[in-house]
Amino acid sequence: MKIYYEKDVNIDVLKDKTIAVIGYGSQGSAQAQNMAESGLNVVVGLRKGGNSWQTALDDGMKVLTMEEAAEVADVIHILIPDEIQAQVYEKSIKPGLKEGNTLSFSHGYNIHYQYIIPPENVNVTMIAPKGPGSTVRGQYLDGFGVPGLVAVHQDYTGNAHQVALAMGQGSGLTRAGVLETTFKEETETDLFGEQAVLCGGVTELIKAGFQTLVEAGYQPEVAYFETCHEVKLIVDLIYKKGFAGMWHDVSNTAEFGGLTRRERVITEESRKEMKEILKEIQNGKFAKEWALENQAGNPQLKRMRAIEDDLEIEKQGKKLRKLCGLEK
Ligand code: NDP
Ligand code: MG
Ligand code: MG
Repeated sequence: MKIYYEKDVNIDVLKDKTIAVIGYGSQGSAQAQNMAESGLNVVVGLRKGGNSWQTALDDGMKVLTMEEAAEVADVIHILIPDEIQAQVYEKSIKPGLKEGNTLSFSHGYNIHYQYIIPPENVNVTMIAPKGPGSTVRGQYLDGFGVPGLVAVHQDYTGNAHQVALAMGQGSGLTRAGVLETTFKEETETDLFGEQAVLCGGVTELIKAGFQTLVEAGYQPEVAYFETCHEVKLIVDLIYKKGFAGMWHDVSNTAEFGGLTRRERVITEESRKEMKEILKEIQNGKFAKEWALENQAGNPQLKRMRAIEDDLEIEKQGKKLRKLCGLEK
């Protein structure tokens, strides 16, 4: 495994170059500000009339339309939602893309599944922070960074890898370390992680635990603290000290109970299903389903959001986070 730090990067490959960050949301605002403060020449490309135009101006960024930004930039870093990147690329970015430019992403999705097929005479790269935008920004301001991934799909100029790393340097990622990967590996592992473990897996585990306690007659407030609030405390321990450090910090009773019961929660059947979920990512079934959902105007997503908002655990959470001063 290759891992790059500040000493491995020559940020001068971006000297006299203009980087257009397309989008100013979670990642766009964090990466654009970090790179600008690292001395890189950054412009932000946005649609007129959107919310982020004023936000970017208020942050002191130079804001252009996406078409103008793509036209003047040497590096075009696409940081708008994955599901709209292909249509925005065709309409607003492709016309400004010139020989030797770099088309850059923070997720391999559209290149890997070929929703975007760039011309052969440009670089196609990825620099992906392994953390949400607010953390990318927060860590940078604290003098550190989140770890990242780097990949090169097309190297037309011969220095595409250094260009991607220099952007990572600008965002603070090389302070923590940037791992070498491919568009395929990043895309497939990212989707699997968010579906099976990080977003899908964790919420369903919390929900199931909460509902089990409430259905058995325990107070929902107590159930919330036990099955949701405390998750962060345990995960923080794992994050800092690994499983061993977590097991060491909890009681022996928790350690014995956890180790003897956990495979009754995540069973052979769950593992089989995880493999199935991975298969659907690898063979493109998930991407197709998501594309159809978008074409139809997101009916499933809207329905699921309404059901999620209506969950008892969400209502309890809102109330309790307010009482604890975690939320206004
Ligand atoms: P966001 O949803 O935060 O992006 C919002 C931005 O996209 C806004 O500036 C918005 O502008 C613009 N936008 C939305 N719709 C359109 C449109 N139809 N046309 C033009 N601009 C539009 O995206 P993220 O930051 O979450 O994700 C960006 C990329 O980063 C993705 O590839 C994602 O996979 C990747 N990534 C995200 C991570 C995260 O933590 N969020 C982590 C790692 C990678 P307006 O105000 O005008 O609507
Ligand atoms: Mg993702
Ligand atoms: Mg306990």
